[in-house]
Amino acid sequence: MIARLLTALLVLTLGVGTAREAAALAVVATSTSMGALARAVGAERVGVIVLAAPDRDLHALQAKPTMIRALRDADLVIAVGAELEVGWLPLAIASAANPRIQPGQPGYFEAADQVVRLDVGIPADRALGDVHPAGNPHVNLDPVRMSAIAAALAERMAGLDPDGAAGYRANAAGFAAALEQRLPSWQERLASAPGVLLYHRDALYLLDRFGVPLLGTLEEVPGVPPTARHLKRLTEQLRGRAGVVIHTPYQSPRAPRQMAQILGWPVYSLPLDPPADADAQAYLDHLDRWVMSLSPQP
Ligand SMILES: [Zn+2]
Repeated sequence: MIARLLTALLVLTLGVGTAREAAALAVVATSTSMGALARAVGAERVGVIVLAAPDRDLHALQAKPTMIRALRDADLVIAVGAELEVGWLPLAIASAANPRIQPGQPGYFEAADQVVRLDVGIPADRALGDVHPAGNPHVNLDPVRMSAIAAALAERMAGLDPDGAAGYRANAAGFAAALEQRLPSWQERLASAPGVLLYHRDALYLLDRFGVPLLGTLEEVPGVPPTARHLKRLTEQLRGRAGVVIHTPYQSPRAPRQMAQILGWPVYSLPLDPPADADAQAYLDHLDRWVMSLSPQP
């Protein structure tokens, strides 16, 4: 029995190793959104390992030995950037001692660095605990920015793996086309969206893209837990109007539920990132879910 188990384990280990070695590029993505992007652009030429499950807050992770092991063999790291992973990724990358993926090298890619960021230039008080001092890092929910990021990623992959260049560029163009095809229906659905109360400014790019009003955030400063005084003020401002409350699975549901009850609004728990192993299709479905939740109630 034990021998059979050991054999099964060995086969499993060899199987994983072979799949990764067969890929032209070993990619490590910090989030499932970045993993979906890597799969959309890299397709069969990349082996992708994602460091953070979609139910984890990328602001709050810690460097772990499993991450360091994955980074040691990577040809390319895809981070969201803008200091989203600042608490753990730099340490994990330094510990991996892999010269190919150090910041500044072709093997280190930041998504937020490829696009114009929102919330830049807002006076940020690190002493207060503001976790967005470099602007808002949560670019992953904006389909248009993600198309631009995919194009930049295709060029980066092409530089690292010239034999795959044409394929990477074609895949990025296909991803952009698939997103563009859905834009009109998303625009139509969201044209009369009542607006949303978020916990954190994490869906800002999606709201900004489709003109959905951000009615407030339960956190007064990004990364600092809600205070009773701030919630009271929000209630007074928002009473009598329509809206929805959305929080992520890793944010405490207590204040969101309380606000939804007081205001008579629906409340949804939605992950910021698509499921584990997400590809381009799963990313599109993930955006669909957000659009449905933001849409006017029937
Ligand atoms: Zn944030």
